[in-house]
Amino acid sequence: MYDLLVKNATVITVDPAHSLYQPGFVAVKGDRIAAIGPMEALPEDAAAAKVIDAEGMCVMPGLVDAHGHAGHCLTKTLGETNDTQFEDAWWLNMAEDIYFHYTDEFFWYAEGALAAAERLKFGITTGVSMLGSTPRPDRLENLQAHFDGAIKTGLRQVSGFGSCDGPWPKKPWVWDGDSYVETTLTPEQMVENTERAVRELNGKHKRQICIVAPGSIGYNPKAETREFAIWKNKEMYRIAKEYGSPLHTHLYGGGVKFVYETTPELLNPHTSLTHSTGLSEEEIQIFADTGVVLFHGPATRANIKKRCPVYEVLRAGGEVAIVTDGTAPDRSYDIWRDMKIFHIIHRCHENDPLLAPPGKILEMCTIVPARALGMDKDIGSLEVGKKADMIIVNTKQPHLAPFGIMPIHRIVYHAQGNDVDTVIVDGEIMMEGRVMKNCDEKQILDDAGKAFDKMRSRLGDKFDAFCAYGDIYGLRGQTMPNPYKK
Ligand SMILES: [Zn+2]
Repeated sequence: MYDLLVKNATVITVDPAHSLYQPGFVAVKGDRIAAIGPMEALPEDAAAAKVIDAEGMCVMPGLVDAHGHAGHCLTKTLGETNDTQFEDAWWLNMAEDIYFHYTDEFFWYAEGALAAAERLKFGITTGVSMLGSTPRPDRLENLQAHFDGAIKTGLRQVSGFGSCDGPWPKKPWVWDGDSYVETTLTPEQMVENTERAVRELNGKHKRQICIVAPGSIGYNPKAETREFAIWKNKEMYRIAKEYGSPLHTHLYGGGVKFVYETTPELLNPHTSLTHSTGLSEEEIQIFADTGVVLFHGPATRANIKKRCPVYEVLRAGGEVAIVTDGTAPDRSYDIWRDMKIFHIIHRCHENDPLLAPPGKILEMCTIVPARALGMDKDIGSLEVGKKADMIIVNTKQPHLAPFGIMPIHRIVYHAQGNDVDTVIVDGEIMMEGRVMKNCDEKQILDDAGKAFDKMRSRLGDKFDAFCAYGDIYGLRGQTMPNPYKK
């Protein structure tokens, strides 16, 4: 007797043999897959406490979105202007200002739930988040509040913090009602907090995974000395190694070489480097030689000025995952959109319509990031013994019908986040018929609204400077005041 049986579906497994069953079944006992195969292999007397007849639908592994930012769901569209690639990078200043000064535990809780609900409803069953933009590492309470919000939706949440951008010391504010106290955070305290977070918060819930996630492991000569950057990186690596945590961070061209020359031990198959635009030939080869994994956000702004040489890294023998970098200012957690952007931009660049084959794209959103996070024994594909993290896509819709021929092409080219009908995590049905089962979606939206209003009222007049009320139809985009310009 199984606990759950999904049958009569097109089953895309993403297993090493690329098995595809049309029609097939997946049987679950407890939180794991007990049997999987073509329908003719299902014994006639197979019974389950819950049976889902998914005839005409598609079953596949839950998607793994391996990079996003906690906080961003409540700062979407704000500061819709310059980014790091531009002159004064005030978007980053704004994000750090908001996250370090105008947030409290309720903000992180409400945003955590909102972000996780968005991800789950788009078929993401495992999501990675860095707490903030450049992470805010002063209080474990904020990180735990974020986990509490996320986990209740049913998402497997992988989050953490680590070193943030300088200058040091940081001066985060801690709110109590309508008043706040300015505190001081030194680099040594940041290291201590990162270690405590991994030690104390990891595994507090079966879907709560706390990792080491520094904002960057590069070297920024404007904010720090070279020796300081190396010290920080060594500390981040020490913690990751001691606690068996993956190391997750941003790193761009120039930074990869810096790390390779100063702390090469950081570059290994359980370190993920996000965005990595502007890589040199030498740095492309470093990906292949060390096994460090490139987490590519096709929709991220880092791509505007410099390319991410995805295919160069793949051809050299490196690994690439697709991530959303959700969700501010202009992205979403709909990773299905990123699959399409990925194949469009890289095909165009390489003038090759057959580049980015759909099966490879699917692996980049499932098994590849699962492996980089050290979780591929449990998630990333549908195989007997693995956790039952799977989704059912409603393919009985005009844009996907008739479904059956070349199903992986159709899923990758045509399906969207809102086509996900059912989400199962740890064998538990977390969404069915697009209704969330483990939590109250209305409450999540209400809480998010309250947290947003609180942030807005604390920001006062500054909030208006973050909003695009200017010339949003002009060719040059909106003209906006920059509150940080001296
Ligand atoms: Zn990012």
